[in-house]
Parts: sequence; C-alpha cells; structure tokens
Amino acid sequence: MNLVEDLRAFLRPDQVTVNETERAHHAQDESYHTPVLPDVVVFAESSEDVVAVMRFAHDRRIPVTAFAVGSSLEGHTIPVRAGISLDLMRMNRVLEIRPDDFLVRVQPGVTKDQLNEALRRHGLFFSVDPGANASVGGMAATNASGTTTVRYGVMRDQVRALKVVLSDGRVLHTGSLAAKSSSGYHLTGLFVGSEGTLGIFTELWLRVFGLPEKVVAARAAFSDVAACVRASTAIMGSGVAVARMELCDPQILRGVNRFKGTDYPEVPTLFFEFHGTKAGLAQEIEPVREICLGEGCAVFEFVESEEARRRLWDARHVAATAFTAQYPGKRHLATDVCVPLSKLADAVENARLLIDQSDVPGGIVGHVGDGNFHAVLVVNPDEATEVAAAYHIHEKLVEHALAVGGTCTGEHGVGLGKRRFQIIEHQDSLSLMRDIKHLLDPLQILNPGKLVSD
Ligand SMILES: Cc1cc2nc3c(=O)[nH]c(=O)nc-3n(C[C@H](O)[C@H](O)[C@H](O)COP(=O)(O)OP(=O)(O)OC[C@H]3O[C@@H](n4cnc5c(N)ncnc54)[C@H](O)[C@@H]3O)c2cc1C
Repeated sequence: MNLVEDLRAFLRPDQVTVNETERAHHAQDESYHTPVLPDVVVFAESSEDVVAVMRFAHDRRIPVTAFAVGSSLEGHTIPVRAGISLDLMRMNRVLEIRPDDFLVRVQPGVTKDQLNEALRRHGLFFSVDPGANASVGGMAATNASGTTTVRYGVMRDQVRALKVVLSDGRVLHTGSLAAKSSSGYHLTGLFVGSEGTLGIFTELWLRVFGLPEKVVAARAAFSDVAACVRASTAIMGSGVAVARMELCDPQILRGVNRFKGTDYPEVPTLFFEFHGTKAGLAQEIEPVREICLGEGCAVFEFVESEEARRRLWDARHVAATAFTAQYPGKRHLATDVCVPLSKLADAVENARLLIDQSDVPGGIVGHVGDGNFHAVLVVNPDEATEVAAAYHIHEKLVEHALAVGGTCTGEHGVGLGKRRFQIIEHQDSLSLMRDIKHLLDPLQILNPGKLVSD
C-alpha cells in the first residue's frame, strides 16, 4: 500500500505530504511529551475532504489524529500510533455572522484572534481567551477556557451546534441555534472536550457577546499569595461580575519583567478586568478595591488606556513562556488543577510548598475566580531526575485537588499526560466513557492512545 498515492487519488497533491519538516511539526504539541512522527500529513479543505479521509482511514484501519494550531499542553496532537495527522487549519473561514442572534458559524481552523477581528466591526466579541492564539476547533476539542471564563464561561458554554464527521465518515449534526433546549441527550456537550477521539468538527455555531461600552483593568499587589486568594474568593462572593481575575506570583512576575521589559512589582498580584457601562463600573469596582485593601493589598492601581490594558494582558498571556525563557534548554511542564473556591487558598499554598521543597523552578498563575491554577514547572526533558521531581509535584497537586473534590485538569485537557488520573477521578464512570468511545469509534481510528484509552 502506498499511502501517499492512495490519498492523492482523491485529494490534490499539495494536500498530502511526507515532507520531514511538516511531519516533525505534526509530531508534537507545546508540551514536554515525546514527539511521534505521523506517516503522512493531510490538509483538509472542506467537510467533504474530512469525510473522504475518514472513510479511507476506516477502510484501512489507519489512525487519524486531528491537528490545528498544535498549542495543546498534554500531548493531545501527538500521533502515538502514527498514521495520518489531519491538519484542519486550511478550513479557516468565518461562514456567517448573525449579530441579532449573537451567533457565528465558523470552520474549525479559524483562530480566536481571527474571529475577534471579524466580529469587531459588528460590535461583537468571542469570549474564550486561552493564552495561545488557538483554533476554535482545537478549543472546542479541549473544552478550553482562560482569563474571561469567570464572567462568560468555558468553551462548552459557547458551542451551540456542531457538524461532526465520525470515525467511519458519517456526518452528524448536533445541537440547535436556540439559546436553550431540553430536547434529547446533550451530544454537543459530549463532543466538546472529546479531544478528537470521537469525531472531527468541520463546522461550529458559537455564541458571541456584545462589546462592552467601557473596559477598565486594575492591578492589586499583596504581600502574600494566600491574601490574594482570600481576596479573590471574597470578590466572587460580593456579586461583582469581574470579567477577569488572575493571580501571578512573584516568580512569574520576575520572568514576565525580564521577558517583556515591564516593571511590575515582583509580589503576589491580582490582575482584574471589568466590563460594563461607565456609570455601572464606577459602582462595581469600589467594593473590589475595598475587599483587596481589607486583605492587606498595598497598591490598587487602575489601568484605563487601551494600550496599557493590552500590555497588561499580553504580559499575563506570556507568563508561562516568560518564566520558561529564564531557563534556556528547559521545557515547560504545565499543571492545571481546579478546586472548589473554598479550597483554593490551601491548594495554592500547598503548591508553593511543594515547589519550594524541590529543586524544580516553578511559578504559579491562576484563573482564581474559577478555582483553577497552574504551577509552571520547568525541566530538561532529557534529565530523568528533573522530570521525576516535576512529576512528583504534579502528582501531589492532583492528589490534593481530587481529595478536596476538584479535578486533575481545569482547562488543558487529558491528552497523554492526565490519562493515568482518569481512573482515580472518574472511578465508576470511566467504563461508560470507554463504552462511548467504542460505540463511536470501534476500530480505535480517532486519536488512539489518548483520553480514556487503556
Ligand atoms: C502559551 C499557552 C497558553 C495557553 N493558555 C491556555 C489557557 O489559558 N486556557 C486553555 O484552555 N488552554 C490554554 N493553552 C492550551 C491550548 O491553547 C488549548 O488547549 C487550545 O484549545 C488548543 O487549540 P489548538 O488549536 O492549538 O488545538 P491543537 O493543539 O491542534 O489540538 C488540540 C486537540 O484538539 C483536537 N482537534 C483539533 N482540531 C479538531 C477538530 N476540528 N475536531 C476535533 N478535534 C480537533 C486535536 O486532535 C487535539 O486532541 C495554552 C497553550 C499555550 C501554548
């Protein structure tokens, strides 16, 4: 069997490649996991292409791993059983914007920045905001979230309807354009977060929001991390709808200052953003300031100009990259636990203690309004002792999160890295998840070896 020739029987030559650079690019994601080369990379340009590729792969039992931007952090796009890496980034059209319905129909390779650019002229924006300029297909597949989730929700809250190609090439439509529905099983919710193991999204209907009249950012500097977290929990209880509320610890801010040339005080800090009307915001922000001052915040500073706000969130978005850049030759091992809000202060303190007791450099960032935080650990992937020490911290963080009713991943997903925690977290429901995988993909064609696989 000549895979390339067989694929070129129904795709154009430039859609099928075994070029070494392309195969290497599609062998990995942004994680520390060991790359595996796909046999071939295929660039889909339409739903019909995806159907044809899936039928072909199904007939020949060839694994297919969907690939978009490749920014995932747990080895999601690594084709561990080789086969076809199916690149969706040429399917990058915004197909329809419906301002009156606050809905948009897109192809999966549209990135979040591209979508926001298209929406701006309609006075709309797409709310999910991970640190990377990810694709909407990849974001739906990982149920991504980020800095704005505290106000607008995760990816699963934004996906109204999906066009999905199944492992045997069948096409399925899930969901509707209605804002709510009590009709049938929530298949859209099942496919969102399935990490390319149940089907390939070829079209998505997404919910969007009106651009706020006024946006204000603020920075609150504290003397200790626990006070930051206590303040964030109290703010959640105050009823103020913060649009972003992010924690950065001193180690992270040191990295950011060096990387971006900023001069943020290197102390535990909460970064805020508020969305609303001019009059409403003035009233909303005051209680937040008071709560922060009550928790010993030394400086509460507003950031109003668009340029200063952009600089602030840009700094937050590069936090992990900036921290890692201080350690040339090392890679970033991201942890990503999420706990009930009342357990967050303990969980963050526990994380700091674990890092301080080890030789692994680490900083902490958190979407603290959601109870979600990341210990950013850096290791040389070729040094077994360093990797083992980082794994140990990772393991302990997950153990702690699960013990208090949390989850092993708030937003990055399972991929390869969190597979071993699935049986601990899901216990009596993991076998049902495996049954669903077998029902939809009995030949284990789609992204095999990931998520719920043994
Ligand atoms: C600097 C940095 C910051 C980040 N910050 C955040 C953050 O704040 N929040 C967060 O949630 N994540 C974050 N991430 C992780 C990453 O950006 C997300 O996981 C993102 O959703 C991945 O999208 P992608 O387009 O890169 O998808 P890829 O990495 O290409 O793919 C991800 C998964 O989706 C599957 N997939 C891709 N396209 C499709 C499709 N059309 N149909 C079905 N399956 C598909 C793939 O097979 C794979 O399993 C960050 C990553 C980096 C590098």
